[in-house]
Amino acid sequence: MTRAWAAGLDMGGTNIRCAAVSVAGDVILMEHGPSLASRKAAAVAENIAAQLSHLLDTARRRGFGSPRAIGVAVPGPLNVHTGTVMQAPHVAAWRGYPLRRRLEALIGRQVVVDNDANAWALGEYWRGAARGRHDVVLLTLGTGVGGGLIVGGRLVHGRSGMAGELGHVTVNPDGPPCDCGSHGCLESYASASGLRGLVQQRLGLPPGEPLPVEIVDSEGNFSVRGLSAQARRGDRLARGEQRASHAGGRAESSS
Ligand SMILES: [Zn+2]
Repeated sequence: MTRAWAAGLDMGGTNIRCAAVSVAGDVILMEHGPSLASRKAAAVAENIAAQLSHLLDTARRRGFGSPRAIGVAVPGPLNVHTGTVMQAPHVAAWRGYPLRRRLEALIGRQVVVDNDANAWALGEYWRGAARGRHDVVLLTLGTGVGGGLIVGGRLVHGRSGMAGELGHVTVNPDGPPCDCGSHGCLESYASASGLRGLVQQRLGLPPGEPLPVEIVDSEGNFSVRGLSAQARRGDRLARGEQRASHAGGRAESSS
């Protein structure tokens, strides 16, 4: 039976998830694959195109017909008007990469490319937690801080397509430098990588030095959960009330 549907793909640092979604918002087919994010810029795009083509083939075999639209969500800031990815945290080779143009050439169809947090905000607005609201702010908290903005029922991209990059709103003009070129961005304080940097700075630890055992997970990686638990226990360093000498002693005792 031919049905009205759209194809969507979410590009993560490790995996790609690809789905056929009915116009009512139900996932009718889901496929997974590796994102191969460490490969060259063109190879990463070719992998995305191959996985989309696979989904379209599966859908066709199941009698779904062709999708009405194809959407691709990628991490990192991009110009949604041109489909050019400025930079992507997991794909080092994508710097000013014309992803949409490349995908359209490979697939032979029009493709919409947007930031993953923007796509997430739209999803929550359409079928999720923000259903029925007209003005929505979505924040993604992880290695970085991503954001999506919906105002008056419309996703806001801004002039350059980066209006929703709330992680790069300046909260302290004298704060640490950020990859975006600014200083003291929200991401420097509220993301896992930002918190790790603050902890290292306050303990006076050079990069690569082990962190105190209380704030690492079983694999030795920095743990926001561990830092939060320390703060709840009243640890003054974790609560941001103390720096330097005593903190340095803690670092030595745990390494
Ligand atoms: Zn920034």
